[in-house]
Amino acid sequence: MMLAAVGAVLAAFLVAPLLRGLVARFAVPEGEPWCGACPLCGREVRLLPPTGRCPGCRERLGAGAWSVELVAAVVAAGLAYAADGPSAAALGWAAGLGVVLGFVDARVRRLPYRLTLPLVGGVAPLLAVAALAAGRPGVLLRCLLVALTVGSLLELAVWIGALGPGDSPLGFALGGLLGWYGWPVAVAGLFAAVVLAGLWAILRAAVALARRRPVRGLDVPVGPFLLLGALLAVLAR
Ligand SMILES: [Zn+2]
Repeated sequence: MMLAAVGAVLAAFLVAPLLRGLVARFAVPEGEPWCGACPLCGREVRLLPPTGRCPGCRERLGAGAWSVELVAAVVAAGLAYAADGPSAAALGWAAGLGVVLGFVDARVRRLPYRLTLPLVGGVAPLLAVAALAAGRPGVLLRCLLVALTVGSLLELAVWIGALGPGDSPLGFALGGLLGWYGWPVAVAGLFAAVVLAGLWAILRAAVALARRRPVRGLDVPVGPFLLLGALLAVLAR
């Protein structure tokens, strides 16, 4: 187990420059083009060092120094303990894209389809292969049902304007993953996400009040909390 966690953390540090590059590319406000190159020196943004600075001109791009590396390492270590063999690939794929989505949503309040669709498109076949390899094809039906339930619940919240459009594909992917572990884990993940997002909103409102600033409703990015809730539910199951 210890060895698996060390391996997972090493893997997290290996892919972190790529994740960091994706955060810089996609953490762009709605309506603006993706940031494919450094705005200062024009160097193409693909891999970024832990400092988050452009290798060409040292301009800070995307997330703060060591933040992506730290989050990716903690998530990887946790999942290495929690994953059962067959689901590990799907969890790993979701963890990598999930870290990127969490940082992007926290920065610009959006979950681009360019990230959520590859998330769904990776998790679905990996879970299918995992179910067949484990000789449990029935689990796949449960994954699909949980994914549709969570995705539709979030889509409903999108329709009434409570969430942004990217939240439902994220919910669909996370629902599928949580469905692997059963309905109670999925319910726990969604519940944890709602509670944590609510606590965060209250905390922000309290800080705003203390600073005598206007309270901007319950305006919190939901993506990071959906991801955190799912992670906690898988860890605690
Ligand atoms: Zn540059």
